[in-house]
Amino acid sequence: MRDTDWTRLLNWPGYLVYRHEISEAEKTLKLWVRRKRSHRKLVCSKCGRRLSEGAIHEVLEREICDLPWSEYRATVVVELYRLRCPECGVKVEKVEQLPSKAPFSKRFEEAVGQACESASVRQVARRFGLPASTVRAIDLRYLERWQATRPKPVLREIGVDEIHLGKKTKFVTVVSDLVTGEPIWMGRERKQETLDAFFQQELSAFRCERIGAACVDMWEPYTNSIREHCPNCRIVYDKFHVMQHANEAVDEVRRAEFFRKKGALREVVKGKRWLLLSRWMHLDGTKKGLLNELFRLNRRLLKAYLLKESLSRLWNYTYEGAMLNYLNKWIDQLKWQRLPAFDRLALMLANHLEGILNYCRTKVRFGVVEAINANLKSLLRRGRGYKNLRYLLLKARRMVATNTEFIALQKAA
Ligand SMILES: [Zn+2]
Repeated sequence: MRDTDWTRLLNWPGYLVYRHEISEAEKTLKLWVRRKRSHRKLVCSKCGRRLSEGAIHEVLEREICDLPWSEYRATVVVELYRLRCPECGVKVEKVEQLPSKAPFSKRFEEAVGQACESASVRQVARRFGLPASTVRAIDLRYLERWQATRPKPVLREIGVDEIHLGKKTKFVTVVSDLVTGEPIWMGRERKQETLDAFFQQELSAFRCERIGAACVDMWEPYTNSIREHCPNCRIVYDKFHVMQHANEAVDEVRRAEFFRKKGALREVVKGKRWLLLSRWMHLDGTKKGLLNELFRLNRRLLKAYLLKESLSRLWNYTYEGAMLNYLNKWIDQLKWQRLPAFDRLALMLANHLEGILNYCRTKVRFGVVEAINANLKSLLRRGRGYKNLRYLLLKARRMVATNTEFIALQKAA
């Protein structure tokens, strides 16, 4: 085969093969390439400025790994220039197929990145014969390049939530765009300073002003930060977070009853935690029967469960007055119940009334934050070792953009 054939098969625009070496024993193919004479465009890799041939400082060679050819591992030795850029000093030229300093061609990185979308890092590492850490680094660069090409839509509604990443990293704050359904930022911890950093480092004052609503939990550090940075933002308390607090109250009643009761009754309460935290409409006949049996024996648990169920109907109201009326009635009926966990919940709701009623003024999409949370958790379950938050964030964004799991999740909900 002639070098022109090798050039055609390699298909690197602007480059030709001038030497090749095949080792049948080691199953390797090595190609030496340099620019075609017609290809004169020289670009500084740092600033992207176009430079003339006079700027060539020196010639060097770089060896990189390309896509395999049949059974052969392919290495390409590229001849490239170091250029004297008036802006940046001596820098290496920009070459389409060399996206980073790492020894891989762009299309090789693309293949690895694409493989990482449907398989775990460990599986991809085995397939390409690379260490897992290298695969992660390639995948991260692949995602960064993808993200860089995407438009940045105006942020109108945001969600802010915390997610627990395990014992070491602990809590991470996640900011999401409720309109696109994508997570857009992550920061360690869940303090006011954490969210401050997002507004200060990621957004201009102008972009902060355009945020019209934020969907959050009743968590002071976040709401303080939002009030400080986004003058036109309405804070809306997320239904799912409020219901989480209601579930905690039910759980507290369950635990209290569990310890109070002895013998047979204790056995009935035991192991019903999950059932008590489920919505009635999501349970089948057998499970409803189990709960009914429990409620026959324990009125207090029945009350707690009914209170939780009725609270979830609060968001069916679209008029502020009607919503307020319903909430007041709900709080009123607690008076005779002697359920301290619910008294505390009622106080909490009363103290955050404005943000609950705000839902009538701005109908934010409630499910988004939960879906993003679930996506992140499924990534963490499969991936492990997301020490790099940026990697986790891009992975989750890609997941939403490619839509796969996100739609599956919406269908399941
Ligand atoms: Zn430059």
